[in-house]
Amino acid sequence: DMKVAVKVVAVGNGVIGIILGKSSMIQRYCKGIFTKDYEKTIGVDFLQRQIQVNNEDIRLMLWDTAGQDEFDAITKACYRGAQACVLVFSTTDRESFEAISSWREKVVAEVADIPIVLVLNKTDLLDDSCIKNEEAEALAKKLKLRFYRTSVKKDLHVSEVFKYLSEKHLQK
Ligand code: GDP
Ligand code: MG
Repeated sequence: DMKVAVKVVAVGNGVIGIILGKSSMIQRYCKGIFTKDYEKTIGVDFLQRQIQVNNEDIRLMLWDTAGQDEFDAITKACYRGAQACVLVFSTTDRESFEAISSWREKVVAEVADIPIVLVLNKTDLLDDSCIKNEEAEALAKKLKLRFYRTSVKKDLHVSEVFKYLSEKHLQK
């Protein structure tokens, strides 16, 4: 079997441009670890993991972006050639929810017609939630995106996100 390689980008930004859990999600998925230590992503980084979907070996290359407010040259270059995208927002960050539509537009402007998934992370912090369930559902519906609720910390539904994107990629 030929190995299929898929370039996946994780995007989204919140009130200070960071802290949604994108880097943590990629680390969790590729290395199986979670750290509380906050480390700001500088520029672009990437990790990979190989999985089997429908009897195909898929090599997922997960690109992690800094997610600055400005769509700067480095971040933008990272989207070029992307074949799937994870749009991340966080339970505890209202601004990250409000920024989703514009992030989606930025990605679509750079790479049209790739599988995109909407991910609400940090669902373990439900007590601090500033986004209503119905609002999140409505956004997913409006943007016609598959919607997952993850907790990278508790390792909930993270692998489903990447499995879904892999399946969509194979269907293309
Ligand atoms: P990024 O800026 O989007 O890449 O976010 P990071 O991956 O650097 O995560 C920012 C902070 O959120 C870190 O302190 C993580 O430990 C924490 N974090 C990430 N995912 C979760 C989660 O699911 N639940 C909780 N409680 N904290 C999380
Ligand atoms: Mg990061």
